[in-house]
Amino acid sequence: LFITFEGGEGAGKSTQIARLASHLTALGFDPVMTREPGGSAGAEAVRHVILSGGAESYGPAMEALLFAAARADHVDQLIRPALEEGRIVLCDRYIDSSRAYQGVTGNLAREFMAAVERIAIDGVKPDMTIILDLPAETGMARAGKRRGHGNADRFEKEDIAVHEARRAAFLAIAAEEPERCKVVDADRPIDDIAAEIAELTDRLLRD
Ligand code: C5P
Repeated sequence: LFITFEGGEGAGKSTQIARLASHLTALGFDPVMTREPGGSAGAEAVRHVILSGGAESYGPAMEALLFAAARADHVDQLIRPALEEGRIVLCDRYIDSSRAYQGVTGNLAREFMAAVERIAIDGVKPDMTIILDLPAETGMARAGKRRGHGNADRFEKEDIAVHEARRAAFLAIAAEEPERCKVVDADRPIDDIAAEIAELTDRLLRD
């Protein structure tokens, strides 16, 4: 079972992944937690290249291909082998971050993004994607508090309008793929969000 978590900055993805992992462990599973960009040695190296670059360093196509290269390695080295062992894989960001960040706010053509996605994931699609939804303003305030001032990465320094556009992009994906994507209101207490995600996961495990 492959479950991905998506959402903007400060949506609480890493907190909720940890909570779902505890829930699954209590049920007797041994879930694998991973993240993008990163998750394998090669992909972590690419993560460093991408996140340390200045906003003007790379064109959007190069950036999309770097994310895709990292994803291909992550799928080969970690995600597919874990799924083949029967493990539950929980991943912080995956294809929908590429669609929203590089595709929509990077202005890359849909066909280009779709082709790159197909090559990178090679058939490894999530069974369920949790989209943690909250107003961009709220997310930015949370992310700012977490990192302190002055050390946000370049994606976190963008305009609030860009973050709202990404939020809309995630919601549009959910509307297109309602079977896979579950929108969860992330502007609530952590326990309430965790309970809803556990419930959605339990339902998936039963089916
Ligand atoms: O989720 P996390 O905050 O660790 O992501 C690291 C950074 O990479 C974020 O600032 C996010 O905006 C950016 N990112 C991106 N495109 C992706 C995935 C992540 O721009 N496809």
